[in-house]
Amino acid sequence: MPTRALSIDLKPFSVRLHFHGDLDFFLGAGDAEIEVYPPGKQYPNFSEKRLQIIRISRFVTDGHLGKLTRNLRLLGLDVAYHPLATDRQLLDVMERENRALLTRDRRLLMHAIVKTGYCPRSQNPDEQTIEVIRRFDLFTLIVPFTRCLRCNAPLQRVAKTDIIAKLEPLTKVYYQEFRRCTGCAQIYWAGSHFEKLQNRIGVIHSLLMGKSDV
Ligand SMILES: [Zn+2]
Repeated sequence: MPTRALSIDLKPFSVRLHFHGDLDFFLGAGDAEIEVYPPGKQYPNFSEKRLQIIRISRFVTDGHLGKLTRNLRLLGLDVAYHPLATDRQLLDVMERENRALLTRDRRLLMHAIVKTGYCPRSQNPDEQTIEVIRRFDLFTLIVPFTRCLRCNAPLQRVAKTDIIAKLEPLTKVYYQEFRRCTGCAQIYWAGSHFEKLQNRIGVIHSLLMGKSDV
């Protein structure tokens, strides 16, 4: 069991495994955990609690993790997501944009080109969110309401006068501060949907502060 006290020069190496039969049998069901580490300088340091300390904060999620994606974007984190993306497309985005792959598909995670990835254990999107934040140490990067929930591009403050023509009559009257997506031009303001999103952040925050080790 590696510990901090060891100063062995851990060089990256690869292991080729040949499986005959169902891979799930070897991996086990339910709680089996798979993480993939990159070679070279980013090889993980070992800590007391976690085997992985990797400074990577950009992700690509598979089509089954839409709610996790929305949560992470809500917190301001950069998550590429296309619900209909094929496995090949996911791997392409991961590689081209240097993102960590988040998927519950263990076979995909074990693909040879996956450098950094994580398989959320929970099936609950809020718990998955906590897992990812803890696993990748994202606490200091959380800035809610700074990223578009639809397309992942950053939001930018925009003057009301610049967008007033696009606002509904009551929105024009009651709201003064707006943000616009730099990607898809979606406009955001603190309307009725805002409260639901704040509640969601509240739930995530409570889970993060909780003692349960997700
Ligand atoms: Zn957008």
